[in-house]
Amino acid sequence: MPLLSQQITSHIKDGSWIRRMFEAGIELKQQHGAENVFDFSLGNPDLPPPPAVAEALNELADKAREPLAFGYVPNAGLPDLRARLAGMISKEQNVDVSAGEVIVTCGAAGALNVLMRCLLEPGDDVICMAPYFVEYGFYAGNFGGVLRPVDTVRPTFALDIAAIGRAITPRTRAVIINSPNNPTGQISTEQELRELSDVLARASAGRERPIFLISDEPYRFLTYDGTTVPPVLPLYPHAIIAGSFSKSLSLAGERLGYLAWNPAIEGSAALSAGFTLANRILGFVNAPVIGQYLLDKALSAGGVDVSIYDERRHAMAEVLRQAGIDFQMPQGAFYFFPEAPGGDDQAFVERLREQNILAVPGSGFGFPGHFRLAFCMDKRIIERSADAFKRVMGIK
Ligand code: PLP
Repeated sequence: MPLLSQQITSHIKDGSWIRRMFEAGIELKQQHGAENVFDFSLGNPDLPPPPAVAEALNELADKAREPLAFGYVPNAGLPDLRARLAGMISKEQNVDVSAGEVIVTCGAAGALNVLMRCLLEPGDDVICMAPYFVEYGFYAGNFGGVLRPVDTVRPTFALDIAAIGRAITPRTRAVIINSPNNPTGQISTEQELRELSDVLARASAGRERPIFLISDEPYRFLTYDGTTVPPVLPLYPHAIIAGSFSKSLSLAGERLGYLAWNPAIEGSAALSAGFTLANRILGFVNAPVIGQYLLDKALSAGGVDVSIYDERRHAMAEVLRQAGIDFQMPQGAFYFFPEAPGGDDQAFVERLREQNILAVPGSGFGFPGHFRLAFCMDKRIIERSADAFKRVMGIK
């Protein structure tokens, strides 16, 4: 007797590579001891939140004695926090965003689901760049949308503007970009974003329903070597940002993110009403209220120490170099996406596993022939993995 919908049953059956690796990790750790397993499979930010978060939590303990201290709040988020976020986003985007153009969501994941709930009609296409965060397909599918991945250019993972142009059809409703990227660590240049915006503006001209540009930006804060992430809001009127504090404040479990859009958009108030309603009727109701208070207090104090991730990035690069594995140095985020020696990513990930190294094959990101390593772990563990990588590559 089927208890679940066909779609959910088939999603469970397909499983996810990250999940499979997570389970393999538990088994390996039981067999060999956690200290002998190098688990590069999960992008779970391991740095403690910045000290301002603990201070804000202490202050909130007093608030817990007040009536309605943590009751329901407006579906769009606390007004003061929305105003504070608008100030932050205006600086990042070089555009005057006001509190009315920001809503607080349950992470970037919640933001993307709210967005797709509001934008998609069943059968609409959502274009994304491969390799891509695998959840995009589920999020689009939640609302009858179909994900249409377009390969990026090898070996740099730059956007393939001509290919994106060719992938646009009358059913295209949105294009998702993600920079700094999970899994490649690459950052789209201003030139790429300009060209993409031009393609979308041309394709949207004369359409009743414009094509939206969704910029998924959980890693905006995490860039290296002085690189910055160019803003998208000034480039395209129908650009919308899905942001997050999961990584910048190491608050992934607290589910805090936002949607922010261009004030130049015609019908901004309608978008606000739609996103606020979707936040409510998708069952999020409002983003966690303790998290919203925390954010309001901790936001101005800055994020986690990016230099720690940078040291790990260099340590990981050195491990790969010593093992003779080719890679593009990530410009941001905390992932490497090297080519799989021999070309078969799944076979190579299996060879890594035999040496107690856990990685995710590129197939799990719609881009075979590569594999992802997440370096959210102590630098010493990364360094200790060097011998295991060399053994996989047959280096003494
Ligand atoms: N988008 C990308 C590219 C991600 O890597 C992640 C999380 O890893 C998310 C969205 C979801 O982030 P959040 O925890 O804010 O929902």
